[in-house]
Amino acid sequence: MLKKNRIKSEKNSFFNSIERNFDKAAKFLSIEKGLLEQIKACNAVYRMHFPVKLGKEIKVIEAYRVQHSHHKLPCKGGIRYSIKVNQDEVMTLAALMTYKCAIVDVPFGGAKGGIKIDPQTISTEAIEKITRRYTSELIKKNFIGPGIDVPAPDYGTGEREMSWIFDTFLSIRPEDVDALACVTGKPVSQGGVRGRKEATGLGVFYGIRELCKMKEDMLSVGLDIGLIGKKIIIQGLGNVGYYAASFFHNAGAIIVALAEREGAIYNKKGLNVSKVILHLKNTGSILNFPEAINIENTEKALELECDILIPAALENVINKKNAEKIKAKIIGEAANGPITPEADEILEKKGVIIIPDIYLNAGGVTVSYFEWLKNLSHVRHGRMEKRFSENMNYELLQIIETVCKKTINPVDKKIILRGPREIDLVRSGLEDTMISGFHKIRDLKISSKIKNMRTAAFVLAINKIVDSYEKLGIFP
Ligand code: GLU
Repeated sequence: MLKKNRIKSEKNSFFNSIERNFDKAAKFLSIEKGLLEQIKACNAVYRMHFPVKLGKEIKVIEAYRVQHSHHKLPCKGGIRYSIKVNQDEVMTLAALMTYKCAIVDVPFGGAKGGIKIDPQTISTEAIEKITRRYTSELIKKNFIGPGIDVPAPDYGTGEREMSWIFDTFLSIRPEDVDALACVTGKPVSQGGVRGRKEATGLGVFYGIRELCKMKEDMLSVGLDIGLIGKKIIIQGLGNVGYYAASFFHNAGAIIVALAEREGAIYNKKGLNVSKVILHLKNTGSILNFPEAINIENTEKALELECDILIPAALENVINKKNAEKIKAKIIGEAANGPITPEADEILEKKGVIIIPDIYLNAGGVTVSYFEWLKNLSHVRHGRMEKRFSENMNYELLQIIETVCKKTINPVDKKIILRGPREIDLVRSGLEDTMISGFHKIRDLKISSKIKNMRTAAFVLAINKIVDSYEKLGIFP
């Protein structure tokens, strides 16, 4: 009986759901079973407990860092603060990081961290204490460092936590000239890169925008090409959901509903995202926004009429209980693992296009890569070439004006003359990564007659990882 239960729970685990997606993709490849097993397995799981004195009490904190793959180093992935953190979740999220990095050609192995706390119910001082202690535990076991394992923000963490991690690392390893590269997602004033904060949301925007440009794909779900007028629902207004909502709103899409933990708001004519955010800041909740109706049961928001549904919070929100009721024609997985394999099958039968997490939310780690490069090169992106480009543009304009015997108006001139700033380089690097990643997956899907983008994305990732294992010559 006991054994039966254990097997059942393993089969239903989050990690197992990713293994199932992986196995589907492996069928399209002829790769040795042992190598596939090695790619799937988590290379190192560090589960820790440490005491922290909070007020008069001593609390024992449970935390994790999982390094899923060492086929490329450093390992890379965020740190999540949530009361729901558990080993299965962190292992799965670490595995997703490996595939994600491979798809967008970011040369890292996957990792993830988690601390089982609810940051909304404890003081800032307590969060700082826990973050610093967690960092020193990682240092003790060599689980953090610019060439070893580089954390970043995730659900429940942000720039503030990353700067505490960096500061703790630096105080213990002051001799490390590359210490800044031990963590990404730092504030710009502490070695962060411009454009990191909005990167995941912007990547989600670029990925979905690209799909919406594809005539055949849009035809298959009965939609016109382009984003203008598309009805969108976004679940989760954290860093990812908020920026995604703003970019879609500015591009002319209609955000019909926004869902948060406490409930959702709906307006079929569209919500003004910045006004909603202001309302959220003033009242502490999105509910009772004057230009919308409340939906008390937030899960119901996923089932509303729309063209594009973007789950941008936590895993497993679309499952066999609600998949049949989903009306969206496109689902963009901004969160990690928001659709269970059972729901995936139901949605596929309904003809829904799913843009998978391991591609769509890769914008965050892509810009983290740019931050890591900035930190290792000790120079701001664009510093070397900005003035040079401006001088070249100036020369070119002079020639054009002479040859054409015309003067270009000063406003246009200013635009043409401008050399690239860091933010321009980061954004164009991100845009290019997301566009080319999309087409690699789509081309593979078509050429290998693969039914959906998720399987095609896994095939692409597995191939890339196998390539690097072969280059490493690990298997003599
Ligand atoms: N936590 C983010 C993710 O799930 C970013 C990871 C990173 O930047 O390393 O992709």
